[in-house]
Amino acid sequence: NTFAEIDLGEAVNTNIRRCKYVKPTPVQRHAIPISVAGRDLMACAQTGSGKTAAFCFPIISGIMREQYVQRPHGARTVYPLALILAPTRELSSQIHDEAKKFSYQTGVKVVVAYGGAPINQQLRELERGVDILVATPGRLVDLLERARVSLQMIRYLALDEADRMLDMGFEPQIRKIVQQMDMPPPGVRQTMLFSATFPKEIQGLASDFLSNYIFLAV
Ligand code: AMP
Repeated sequence: NTFAEIDLGEAVNTNIRRCKYVKPTPVQRHAIPISVAGRDLMACAQTGSGKTAAFCFPIISGIMREQYVQRPHGARTVYPLALILAPTRELSSQIHDEAKKFSYQTGVKVVVAYGGAPINQQLRELERGVDILVATPGRLVDLLERARVSLQMIRYLALDEADRMLDMGFEPQIRKIVQQMDMPPPGVRQTMLFSATFPKEIQGLASDFLSNYIFLAV
């Protein structure tokens, strides 16, 4: 019933204390150990449930163990290790703000890229290096088409508010994005799908993107 009981590592635990999170919320209590154990996850969780931390903590903690893996150097292409997809500019920038707090002094770099804003500043940020990319689907497709981002090294994928992304018509972009992640041996890419509702379309994404996943409803 405490964060310290979950094996997130000392640096992440220190940041959790800095954020004054004392007790995990229900979605955190269940989702974090599942992710730390390496399992894929489909979670039904509402806004305000603490889901941002539920997917950020395991990603940051996992990346801390892997940020020294060799990554290709493309001329101007960056190779993030984790991708968090969110429907809107507002949500992606909120996730970015939280993820930066959670990864303070861990060496893990978080960058956000959303549509409806000039791309040049985002490109400059990306060029300075990125471990965790938070993005809206349309802007990410643009970055992939420009070959400024490669998803070949992605180890962690989180889809936040997946039902809203589908309502906004992002399914083709999301499928295009996930197709670009190398088809690794089973278990190499860990995926977390968060949605407030669980209609047929979301069940379809879950069965296409997740492998042997645990279903969580809180
Ligand atoms: P979210 O559902 O991720 O948007 O989180 C809702 C709000 O709850 C945010 O302001 C978080 O900073 C806060 N929060 C998340 N987890 C905890 C926790 N374990 N203890 C206290 N506040 C939290």
